[in-house]
Amino acid sequence: MKVLVINAGSSSLKYQLIDMEDESVKAKGLCERIGIEGSRLTHKVPGKEDFVQEKPMPTHNTAMEMVLAALVDPEHGVLKNVSEIDAIGHRVLHGGAVYTESIKVNDDVKRVIRECFDLGPLHNPANLMGIEACEASMPGVPNVAVFDTAFGMGMEPFAYRYAIPEEYYEKYKIRRYGFHGTSHMFVSRETIRFANLPEGQRRVIVCHMGNGSSISASVDGKCVDTSMGLTPLEGLIMGTRSGDVDPAVVQFICDHEGISVDEMLTILNKKSGVLALSGGLSSDFRDLTEGEKNGNEKAALALAAFRHKVVKTVGGYLAAMNGADAIAFTAGIGENDAQMRADICAKLEFAGVKIDPEKNKVRGQNVEISAPDSKIRVFVIPTNEELAIARETVRLA
Ligand code: AMP
Repeated sequence: MKVLVINAGSSSLKYQLIDMEDESVKAKGLCERIGIEGSRLTHKVPGKEDFVQEKPMPTHNTAMEMVLAALVDPEHGVLKNVSEIDAIGHRVLHGGAVYTESIKVNDDVKRVIRECFDLGPLHNPANLMGIEACEASMPGVPNVAVFDTAFGMGMEPFAYRYAIPEEYYEKYKIRRYGFHGTSHMFVSRETIRFANLPEGQRRVIVCHMGNGSSISASVDGKCVDTSMGLTPLEGLIMGTRSGDVDPAVVQFICDHEGISVDEMLTILNKKSGVLALSGGLSSDFRDLTEGEKNGNEKAALALAAFRHKVVKTVGGYLAAMNGADAIAFTAGIGENDAQMRADICAKLEFAGVKIDPEKNKVRGQNVEISAPDSKIRVFVIPTNEELAIARETVRLA
């Protein structure tokens, strides 16, 4: 079975064709600048040179047509015919309070995705355009929507409700949803599988640390709590997002600087986080680590603040689950930054966490990095959201 995985953004469309026989990636690529001058498709096939096409892509439909043409191109393609694609899996940001799981797309599903435009104004419209482009160019092929919020729907009301007047929950479904759900779902399940955790011992904390960062606590692959909220702004300090701030900060700065709440939210999303704490040095942890080594105190502060928030969140989840059986690190920083993993784990010594410095040197593969006498086992588990989407697609299509 061959599954096409689509991640459509407002002006971009990423894709992967995965052969589910062996879960191998046959081709992947990216359409950039859709609807803007200078559109470009970059198509990659393992073992071949990249195929780049610069052609106008006024809409997602044109982008999708170009992707299909590349997939069946005699020289650069991997398929004889588009009909070899059995199903399409779509990353969809927000399923609101309706979808707790992935679902096969029909008119009702599209209506809900549309109703959630308010909750995911940048992503949901683009995700829907991706679905409709596939329906237009591959009629009859099943489309599956995999929601980034679905994993967080496992939370109990005491974890997802904000302590604000009930009417806002009733009227607008203002609650904590959590994001990076596809990654948390994949990594928590992969940790259970890789670590061979027996039933009753499947309390897993996943630290997804990348440009966007979030942590989840789950039991048996079901989310107990997760650090992002109504939007991805809540929780940890991130590359350019502030994470948790007292809402009064927003009012204070808006009043004193004469800016709108919208402008303030842009600042909190795009100009804050470690980028802000490092005095504008960088949102990239490699630059910050380098900066700290060279004596840059602001870079050191940014790294320390990030670490502190991660440790507090993991500590909170340890309390919430009365301990944990495994902690898994994933995403750009979690998979690659051995020093960050070591520093975080050193601060979890109180819980009996102990890592083996030799094992911690690895990157980019499933590996247990805890010492044999660690009370909680610790892992690096690379995330693979595309594969998670493809697996869900096979399950439902
Ligand atoms: P992601 O959003 O998952 O792609 O993660 C991106 C982030 O991972 C970058 O901003 C870097 O800060 C971080 N990263 C990637 N590679 C490394 C590395 N070797 N050491 C430290 N941080 C890294």
